[in-house]
Amino acid sequence: MNPFRYRKFTLLIVAGFAFLLGLFGSCGLNGGDPSPRNIILFIGDGMGEAQVRAGSYYATGMEVGLSFQQFPVCSRVTTFSADNSITDSAAAATAIATGKKVNNGVLSVAIPGDGKPLETILELAKKQGKRVGIVTTTSLTHATPAAFAAHQLSRTDGFAIAQQMLYGTKPDLLFGGGGEGMDPALAQGAGYRVVTNKQGMVGLTFEDLPVSGQFGISHMPYEYEGLGDLPHLSEMTRKAFELLSQDTVGFFLVVEGGRIDHAAHRNDIQLLVREVIEFSRAIEVTFRWAKDNSRTLIVVTSDHETGGLQLQGSSEKGQLPEAHWTTTGHTGMVVPLYAWGPGSESFKANLDNTEIHTILYDILTKP
Ligand SMILES: [Zn+2]
Repeated sequence: MNPFRYRKFTLLIVAGFAFLLGLFGSCGLNGGDPSPRNIILFIGDGMGEAQVRAGSYYATGMEVGLSFQQFPVCSRVTTFSADNSITDSAAAATAIATGKKVNNGVLSVAIPGDGKPLETILELAKKQGKRVGIVTTTSLTHATPAAFAAHQLSRTDGFAIAQQMLYGTKPDLLFGGGGEGMDPALAQGAGYRVVTNKQGMVGLTFEDLPVSGQFGISHMPYEYEGLGDLPHLSEMTRKAFELLSQDTVGFFLVVEGGRIDHAAHRNDIQLLVREVIEFSRAIEVTFRWAKDNSRTLIVVTSDHETGGLQLQGSSEKGQLPEAHWTTTGHTGMVVPLYAWGPGSESFKANLDNTEIHTILYDILTKP
């Protein structure tokens, strides 16, 4: 860790908070504790603590060198599902999105329970008048994005998920891989402006909302493979907050680094570090914008760990750390959480994944 950089960063945060407290405290809003207008939730799929450190060593040669590792709030999250100590992405994303534990494979319906749809935090934000969006590097109908905007007994029915997303929940913005039940015609039928490459995405304006970027016909390529004419996660993220922030009502945005999980399933440290670094880049561009738009809360976490990754020692910048994998599946290890901005203090204690929802719910419904 570079202590000087950390201290500078901390000073910046402290100064920012002091400014905010002075500004809003004098207006008497919420007792001088402004609640965030915008919430951006980053989920690194399959990203445990070792995955973060691996990315950090490769990018910086340091254990704590990535953008979000500098955030003032760091805690840990338990991830078990209703029917298994090792969760899948559907149950984990449902827990974060709805505050309820469900069985593996279930998307935001009460199983166990009466099988009824569980309102997601994205749907609540939309109901409250906020702009809402989802960005991912997996196909848009994959489990993590789906749990925020669809309600299904099984994560496998891509077409039903796409229909519910587009015609039911209808987020203002959906950027990710296409296919798997999602297609341009279906989205256009629901009133979406559809783009299929980076150039099209860059040209989108606020007037085009709702918009759907469908980049490819399945998951997007790994960073290591190259993206061709498709946008990187950091570029999709930047475009998303630029579009959604043009309204004064605030927004809720979920950003998933979805292929971290896939690289970990393959026990491929080379693929993995590039995915983690791009995920960090997406958070960095967001932070650079948010520090000047101070009513923005950034939360970074994971749905579960994948691979049982352990690192043997450290590594120099540009060198892959020595990886020891214990499984090609998920594990029940705790995952890290990092937060910055107004409301971030609430994430200080170690949490269960359902409590991420509890805190976000309180923030959104605070008078
Ligand atoms: Zn997985």
